[in-house]
Amino acid sequence: MATAAPSILESIFLKRSQQKRKTSPLNYKKRLFVLTEQKITYYEYDFERGRRGSKKGFVDLEKVICVECVEPEENPPPERQILHREEFADTEQISIIERFPYPFQIVYDDGPLYVFAPTEDLRRRWINQLKLSKGRSELYTLPFWPHPHKLRPRVKPMKFGVDAKDEMEAKSAKPLPPTPSTSAPTVCKVVALYDFTPISGQDLPLCKGEEYVLLDEGSGQPWLRARNKNGQEGYIPGNYVTEAKDPLEIYEWYSKNMTRSSAEDLLRREDKEGGFIVRDSSKAGKYTVSVYAKSSGEGFIRHYVVCETSVNQYYLAEKHVFSTIPELITYHQYNAAGLISRLKYPVCSGRSAPSTAGLGYGSWEIDPKDLTFLKELGTGQFGVVKYGKWRGQLEVAIKMVKEGSMPEDEFINEAQCMMKLSHENLVQLYGVCTKQRPIFIITEYLSNGCLLTYLKEFRARLSQGDLLSMCSDVCSAMSYLESKQVLHRDLAARNCLVAEDGAVKVSDFGLSRYVLDDEYTSSLGSKFPIRWSAAEVLLYSKFSSKSDVWSFGVLMWEVFTFGKMPYERFNNSEIVEQIMKGVRLYRPQLATERVYNVMLTCWAEKAEDRPAFPIIQAAILEIMEDL
Ligand code: ADP
Ligand code: MG
Repeated sequence: MATAAPSILESIFLKRSQQKRKTSPLNYKKRLFVLTEQKITYYEYDFERGRRGSKKGFVDLEKVICVECVEPEENPPPERQILHREEFADTEQISIIERFPYPFQIVYDDGPLYVFAPTEDLRRRWINQLKLSKGRSELYTLPFWPHPHKLRPRVKPMKFGVDAKDEMEAKSAKPLPPTPSTSAPTVCKVVALYDFTPISGQDLPLCKGEEYVLLDEGSGQPWLRARNKNGQEGYIPGNYVTEAKDPLEIYEWYSKNMTRSSAEDLLRREDKEGGFIVRDSSKAGKYTVSVYAKSSGEGFIRHYVVCETSVNQYYLAEKHVFSTIPELITYHQYNAAGLISRLKYPVCSGRSAPSTAGLGYGSWEIDPKDLTFLKELGTGQFGVVKYGKWRGQLEVAIKMVKEGSMPEDEFINEAQCMMKLSHENLVQLYGVCTKQRPIFIITEYLSNGCLLTYLKEFRARLSQGDLLSMCSDVCSAMSYLESKQVLHRDLAARNCLVAEDGAVKVSDFGLSRYVLDDEYTSSLGSKFPIRWSAAEVLLYSKFSSKSDVWSFGVLMWEVFTFGKMPYERFNNSEIVEQIMKGVRLYRPQLATERVYNVMLTCWAEKAEDRPAFPIIQAAILEIMEDL
């Protein structure tokens, strides 16, 4: 490879072909995008071998005029309907496109480059980073960068099929958009997905289904300032609201991630004529209605896929077409119209609200009087961990920090930053009790306990898909930590926990820095996680997100061996010797070549040759897709 400038960001995105002629067909290809100080380069990516392939093109940052979120047009004329299934010949392309739903455009002197990100978070990171990188090399301030959370982009909607040259002419003829101070603020509205009762005095209650106006650019913040319809203002948890216009999540009949078999279990258990559930179909972007009916006492179930017309209307029975899913459901609540029963009883999975980042805005000190201790969960590095309740309701885990096991003042300073980290696959830190000794660390409680124990206990019940989904959960949390420039330093199955629904969450991030125990902190100590450590950590204690990537590879190996001890037969000095010689963990029986290749890329000798977390995740999702 040519001398490579250090990369700032690397992601797998979908790139739309830059149609130079109106007649050339549109296509979408997965590319590895690499951002360096100077340019954005895109490459082929070999998922099989986890390697960057040949270079396909690049854009000099100097030539970039603007980067912004775009949205596909709401009702494009037929010639631009790329997402319309029946008319799109290549079904493989459709399923790929549906996995990259967050487009943005990079406008430069050669036309706009349309790029599709798999998550909103990645799109935001790229846009923000490009803005930063530009800021360094430009003397003038760039045009306003739209708030990535906003529903309606300030730019005109992306027009599929428009000649790149036309688009460019339009762009260059226009003066630069005004800077933020002079531009009219765009109102950003959100809808509550859950009820929320204020915890601290500055919080605003949320009522499921109601609309709120965001008051500042809190993008990515766990608490957002908002106003309700009565004009009251306060802070709301960012993960309780959505910017989607009509989120299905607010309806009790909708269970997003429910599988066919759990829908059947639930309907049978309820045993009600006309019981129904709307869920995401196994086909991406489609919905299924599962209905329960009874005939001479016997219950039976039918699953109906919601069909979509060429103009984005929905129907179950061809004669009754609606523009939204809720309208369709309302209709069938009164009319069977061919279904085995009309939809009488919404059956819900009892989805619980997610954890908030701390117990109320700005409150990280928890009053120990609000805690009830219910049972002991185990003992860890810092002492006993207990299960309990906060204000008699919220389940929590309480780490009682053994005196002398931690530099408490340093930790207390850091805790406020750690509280701001909030991700569905991170064990949420709720707060601390620091006014007494021992101090307590209060976190979210996960009923299925430690991942390592869980793997050993449930090995017989875990499928290949379950194992990959565990790895993907961890990878998702690690991508988030990496984006916040937080290192874990002790990633291993023993430091992950399993939620009630089987989701895996990463715990104890960054805590290892506060361990006062030489046996644990020195790479020569008996408790140092040698078996999870990258070569450069063993050699010169060089921690980085790429050393976390190494540990992730070992965690993946633990998952696929159902919790075996890595390098079982070797002692610590033998392990170091083997690693330096280039020996790696063997391929677990359950890991296919593709899965093992992902592990091997995590254990590349040079840290810079290891893929970043978002890329590992793309590779894992790719394997899951083909199961
Ligand atoms: P430390 O990280 O301080 O060494 P651990 O976090 O490993 O301690 O806690 C010890 C044990 O307590 C774990 O193995 C796990 O079974 C249990 N535990 C810890 N935190 C939680 C939690 N949030 N929810 C459920 N169980 C937990
Ligand atoms: Mg632990």
